[in-house]
Amino acid sequence: MNYPHLFAPLDLGHVVLPNRILMGSMHTGLEDKAADFDKLAAYFAERARGGVGLMVTGGIAPSIRGWLKPFGGRLSMPWHVARHRRLTDAVHAEGGRICMQILHAGRYGYHPLSVAPSRVKSPITPFTPKALSARGVERTIRDFVRSAELARKAGYDGVEVMGSEGYLINQFIAARTNQRNDAWGGDAARRMRFPVEIVRRTREAVGRDFIIIYRLSMLDLVEGGQSWDEIVTLAKAIEAAGASIINTGIGWHEARVPTIVTSVPRAGFAWVTRKLKGEVSIPLIATNRINMPEVAERVLAEGDADMVSMARPLLADPAWADKAKSGQSERINTCIACNQACLDHVFQNKRASCLVNPRACHETELKIEPAVQRKRIAVIGAGPAGMACASMLAERGHAVTLIDKSAEIGGQFNYAKRIPGKEEFHETLRYFRHRLADTGVELKLGHAADAASLKAAGYDDVVIATGVMPRKVQFPGSDDPRVLGYLDVLARDQPVGQRVAIIGAGGIGFDMAEFLVEHRPSPATDTARWSREWGVDTQQSQRGGLLQPQPEAPLRQVWLLQRSEGRPGARLNKTTGWVHRATLKAKQVTMLGKVGYERFDGEGLHITVDGQPQVLPVDNVVICAGQEPNRELADALAALGIATHLIGGADVAAELDAKRAIDQGTRLASQL
Ligand code: FAD
Ligand code: NAP
Ligand code: SF4
Repeated sequence: MNYPHLFAPLDLGHVVLPNRILMGSMHTGLEDKAADFDKLAAYFAERARGGVGLMVTGGIAPSIRGWLKPFGGRLSMPWHVARHRRLTDAVHAEGGRICMQILHAGRYGYHPLSVAPSRVKSPITPFTPKALSARGVERTIRDFVRSAELARKAGYDGVEVMGSEGYLINQFIAARTNQRNDAWGGDAARRMRFPVEIVRRTREAVGRDFIIIYRLSMLDLVEGGQSWDEIVTLAKAIEAAGASIINTGIGWHEARVPTIVTSVPRAGFAWVTRKLKGEVSIPLIATNRINMPEVAERVLAEGDADMVSMARPLLADPAWADKAKSGQSERINTCIACNQACLDHVFQNKRASCLVNPRACHETELKIEPAVQRKRIAVIGAGPAGMACASMLAERGHAVTLIDKSAEIGGQFNYAKRIPGKEEFHETLRYFRHRLADTGVELKLGHAADAASLKAAGYDDVVIATGVMPRKVQFPGSDDPRVLGYLDVLARDQPVGQRVAIIGAGGIGFDMAEFLVEHRPSPATDTARWSREWGVDTQQSQRGGLLQPQPEAPLRQVWLLQRSEGRPGARLNKTTGWVHRATLKAKQVTMLGKVGYERFDGEGLHITVDGQPQVLPVDNVVICAGQEPNRELADALAALGIATHLIGGADVAAELDAKRAIDQGTRLASQL
């Protein structure tokens, strides 16, 4: 049997789960409107079909005050039940099981009605919460219980009580946010009464045959968080109050330690759950950066936990569980933990999706239907856009030839995968290698396509996915061999000196800086090293699990420059940009804005900063100044009268990323 621990059933008394895989809670943006519930139902149904043991919805508020944002998803009134019923029916029809997460945002609520144990504003929301009165606390507990009762009416198999990540329950538990001195605060025992009462009264209300998962903050990663002894005491009290399972929560949202981005080691927090093993007898779930079956199996086999939670990996591949079970892990579309289409979307109030799987949360719209008429189609360029397009076209039944001048598939992902902390990009290339073969795409590598031979071949359609060319920057001395492009470094391995200036502070400029300062192998491959660098206390000897960070010395001295005003990196993605900025700061990279590039000579790079001249004494300059579309082939075909479809960087290079490239390739392929 493949992955015997992962596929061992889990007996919860009234129900036996078929395996140890939990699809963790993940907000999609579809929870908020009744009109979107059919889309949400299709999304969950597809994942139930893929064999996951148990799923948890995104956070649903038990009251208006508990909203994450105005008009967010809520289950507090009898007339809310019907829409949830559509979802549970769809999941049960596929043989799946689903719990509803009850999330009260407390002071993280992005609205003026927010409440908290005390009037202490959070650093990540503009609203100061109202402190709950003692009656308000009682009412809030009743709201949780009522929401659970309604969830049961709606057909859910259980609820998850969200007690971590810095939301209301966590705010009650931690002294930093609970400054009360009544029955609900003052010492640790009174601070934890709130969650214990919620679980106890919920269990009384819903009966024994209903799952209650409690998400327990086991590592707060903020000053004034819980001590380990308090965490153990709370876990025992939650078990005694009637929880069926305890899930692991890592880090408050305001923590300045990354917890799920791609540079966090795989299963890098499983040790936290392991520490609680033996303290309680109900099953424990490990979370964070578990994305492949061998990682999940290891966590279970080594006894760190009884179950594993994966949220984003199930967004990336709905059939994750079935593929693992049938020995086809190499066909899993792996979550690369980029956050670009999931969390970043949610923070922008957009519907979530997935960079590597644009169908996620769009199952009813982006369908894979057999082609009406089988065509011969050439796709030129096997970067992310071309690979996504070619494989989807072939899956629909077209005869597809994918041509690339390079000896390997992947385009720029072959450079991205070399960046320390971006090791996951290898997985996307592995996935597409299998997917292209499985769908029967004819692959021609090491073959530069030209207009004349494409015309002679007489394809029905030609898709141009030829990507981008790095933008050239001219200044006196820019033709010096010590002035390099990012491809000289990442594709051609040209040697780089000890002191380096990078021109351009976009995504690639930041990646280049990390490439130049970081030791190999990267800390993303070593939990102990990574934890030291970020100041995570793996002994849990300190409250909140925080120690002084101990970053390793940088490999080189680096300056990262941009012409525009303001902080470099301000335009990086919302949920990952701060990690890149903090990483480079820890590596003493000098980041400068409002820079003019004057010349490069034996002294170094002459620049102005806000008009003031400076010389950076560097051995090399690396240019990462954006890109231009590579349309040479498209233009040549147009000159021969052949119409083409442009996708990815070949279409628009500005603001291009792999999310847009894969999405555009997939959408075009669903229509041809
Ligand atoms: P490309 O990936 O550029 O692929 C184009 C392909 O066309 C190439 O393989 C090329 O060989 C081939 N080709 C060109 N002309 C011909 C021809 N005449 N005949 C045959 N083949 C031809 N994006 C993100 O979203 N997130 C990230 O974290 C991220 N990190 C990055 C890190 C680095 C270091 C780099 C360089 C890029 C990164 N990107 C990232 C950007 C991302 O890789 C690109 O947006 C994406 O690769 C664009 O895809 P594409 O298919 O349009 O083009
Ligand atoms: P980019 O994000 O557009 O950044 C280009 C940088 O070069 C900017 O800092 C720009 O700032 C500077 N620049 C532009 N024209 C210049 C010129 N003529 N002379 C000097 N400097 C110039 O492009 P990129 O870094 O090449 O990234 C390409 C794409 O890949 C982006 O869409 C990015 O999102 C994606 N990517 C994403 C990630 C990620 O982690 N999400 C990582 C890598 C790449 P000034 O104009 O202020 O100087
Ligand atoms: Fe994972 Fe990125 Fe997809 Fe989110 S967008 S699920 S992080 S691959």
